[in-house]
Amino acid sequence: MPPFFQRRLAFPAQIPALRVLLALPAVITLLSPIAAVPLPAATLIHAGSLIDGISDQVRNQVTIVIDGDRIAEIRQGFSAPGDDDTVIDLKDAVVMPGLMDMHVHLTGELSPNRYLERVQLNTATFAVRSVEYARRTLMAGFTTVRNPGDDGTITVALRNEIAKGMVPGPRIFTAGKSLATTGGHADPTNGLRADLTRDAGPKDGVVNGPDDAAKAVRHRYKEGADFIKLTATGGVLSVAKSGQNPQFSEEELRAIVTTANDYGFHVAAHAHGAEGMKRAIRAGVRSIEHGTLMDQEVMDLMKEHGTYYVPTILAGVFVAEKAEIDGYFPELVRPKAAEIGPKIHATFGKAYRAGVKIAFGTDSGVSPHGENAREFALMVSAGMPPMEAIQAATMAAAELLGIQDELGSVEVGKIADLVAVRGDPLEDISVLETVAFVMKEGAVYKDER
Ligand SMILES: [Zn+2]
Repeated sequence: MPPFFQRRLAFPAQIPALRVLLALPAVITLLSPIAAVPLPAATLIHAGSLIDGISDQVRNQVTIVIDGDRIAEIRQGFSAPGDDDTVIDLKDAVVMPGLMDMHVHLTGELSPNRYLERVQLNTATFAVRSVEYARRTLMAGFTTVRNPGDDGTITVALRNEIAKGMVPGPRIFTAGKSLATTGGHADPTNGLRADLTRDAGPKDGVVNGPDDAAKAVRHRYKEGADFIKLTATGGVLSVAKSGQNPQFSEEELRAIVTTANDYGFHVAAHAHGAEGMKRAIRAGVRSIEHGTLMDQEVMDLMKEHGTYYVPTILAGVFVAEKAEIDGYFPELVRPKAAEIGPKIHATFGKAYRAGVKIAFGTDSGVSPHGENAREFALMVSAGMPPMEAIQAATMAAAELLGIQDELGSVEVGKIADLVAVRGDPLEDISVLETVAFVMKEGAVYKDER
């Protein structure tokens, strides 16, 4: 069991009355071994159709039995409830596993003020906003997200409080602070004037050389992160000239991956340029984020190493749109947004046809939170069949995170994260943009039946 679940189970979230009921029989048995033990009440979901996240076949008219926070049974047909059972009627809907977005930044949203806010606002402001962004993400049907990079404190706290049930939101896997080299894409002092900037180091995620690399990873462990994010090449939104130059040596990348492995962390690599991707893949990263300028050699390497591609087409489309507005971006950023942004869509189509493993990711926070599902239509228009796009956001994402035994599909024994939509997503994938029902760990968060 990955440490995430041990931690979560220690602080059960959203304790439904069911969980208390489940504990009762043990108490009763202790007090009076011969007393009749009432069966715990279950929730029965009558699903018109079920897309389970693994099978390419849709099942019609099934009953999903939820016991506490788990899927206890899946029955063909609509079963009648027992006396104390609850029925959720989704006979006119398509039920699916909770969606998973492998690339969101819950601590912010892009705006023309973004660069100024970085020096004007305290962390607390971003923390408060992140609570609302997390809620919107959950209401959009995303019950699990991976957050590759924040200031190093906010999403760790957000993850823990969501897990305790203090605020609603998706289950979060966070990288804490992203790793970069000096002046690299995630150097937190980029773009600041001389008297505000400083020589940031491993504690801030800035790495130069293998010793720094190990120390930076250990700082993320201390910070409470779940995985490591590094910026293998330049990026679009940082105030720096190149959006694609390689920014780590292979030696530094290997030191990061090796140290990360000591802590059970996987490594996600942001990359637009091909050289940075090749170094990162050879060093053993689990995923390439964006992957904009990948060539045939990169795709071959990804297949050889089993590296996932997390495309974030939506972010590319969004920044290209905003690049047309005068003053939206700083002058160093604008040409990168115009040039790099639109290329991801075509890259995604090529990578899909080449057989690269793909896990759904949007970079939401570039685009508004809660609109994550717009990525599906972009994936489908680039050539991926709708069923595979849904699997990329369910089972493939769970495999990327290493939680495929607990989540990612609707199967007996798994955690009860479910969403439902009206309309057939295999006919029109955009129906995923208006999710009508959201259940996370057996608790209902949204019900627009
Ligand atoms: Zn990102």
